[in-house]
Amino acid sequence: APSVRTVLVTGGAGFIGSAVCRHLIGAGDTRVINLDKLTYAASPEALAAVQESPRYRFVAGDIADRALVSRILAEERVDAIMHLAAESHVDRSIDGPAVFVETNITGTFHLLEAALDHWRTLTGRAKTTFRFHHVSTDEVFGDLPFDDSRFDEATPYNPSSPYSASKAASDHLVRAWHHTFGLPVVLSNCSNNYGPHQHAEKLIPLTITRAAAGETVPVYGTGANVRDWLYVEDHARALDLVVRRGAIGECYVVGGRAEHSNLAVVTMICDLLDDVRPKPGLRRRDLIRFVTDRPGHDRRYAIDPSRIERELGWRADTKFADGLAATIEWYLAHQPSIGLTERRGVA
Ligand code: NAD
Repeated sequence: APSVRTVLVTGGAGFIGSAVCRHLIGAGDTRVINLDKLTYAASPEALAAVQESPRYRFVAGDIADRALVSRILAEERVDAIMHLAAESHVDRSIDGPAVFVETNITGTFHLLEAALDHWRTLTGRAKTTFRFHHVSTDEVFGDLPFDDSRFDEATPYNPSSPYSASKAASDHLVRAWHHTFGLPVVLSNCSNNYGPHQHAEKLIPLTITRAAAGETVPVYGTGANVRDWLYVEDHARALDLVVRRGAIGECYVVGGRAEHSNLAVVTMICDLLDDVRPKPGLRRRDLIRFVTDRPGHDRRYAIDPSRIERELGWRADTKFADGLAATIEWYLAHQPSIGLTERRGVA
């Protein structure tokens, strides 16, 4: 009979982690143990589709709880760890960086130690197939000028924000646990994700929920900052390929070949909403307000995904316009936080 592998997903109740859980349970040959602390960012409702699966188990807990992680790894005979748990919002990292250091750096350190202890107890095939996959961001590379340069696997690290610095630190720890202790790791650095179930503080959901309700839409600076957008389900598929087939010790940059300025994205959302949910007398573009720029705001991110396309046969399938329309449709149907005014948040 085909063997079922067991994957420990950390942060599986978050935006991307929940898409990974849904993808892995859908894949059929995988048991998923989801370890998540359920911070403000978690969306447990994004797991409704997998909750009933006999191959799915949720554990509420912190990645820094080494005893808990060690127990899970041993009892569940975990074959791979996909590490997504993190504090992920740049604006919050500027207002309160401490928790970013705790979870993203110290938390990753404890998880690596537990993983190394576990890996050392394995023998035979289990030892050679075990993987620790660190899911990271392209923000570790800093920013690019407005030209046709792009990040790839050889781009040097140059993080700007407390968030990206903490992710750069955890990338370095993961590589060190490979080079120094032999832990079989893979890394991936992805561009901005969008799609259903993203927390309303991020650019696309914030714009959809505010513009849908006829509220003003904040845009940092002049809106010229460029991001390279990837639909979250395309990312989940990429992550599954990287953890299964990625070369040990290597990194893959992941992106959707979909660069757009923040202003272009916000304008597209306003126009799409005018089409699908018109409000008499309102042209939603008129809701756009330019607000004081985020300190240290990176100008441009762009990914050259040639390596993962060539070596792992991955492609971003979802066109930006289609993914955006699907995302808008989802938020209109669920509208988790229309009227959220707490933050100025721009991804
Ligand atoms: P998210 O903020 O939506 O979810 C993070 C999840 O981690 C939440 O469910 C939270 O409860 C959990 N968590 C936080 N601290 C924890 C801890 N100490 N122990 C256990 N669980 C904890 O984040 P996301 O957008 O889904 O991002 C997931 C990962 O992907 C992160 O590592 C992030 O750096 C990376 N990433 C995100 C993007 C993006 O565009 N969102 C792009 C590239 C990489």
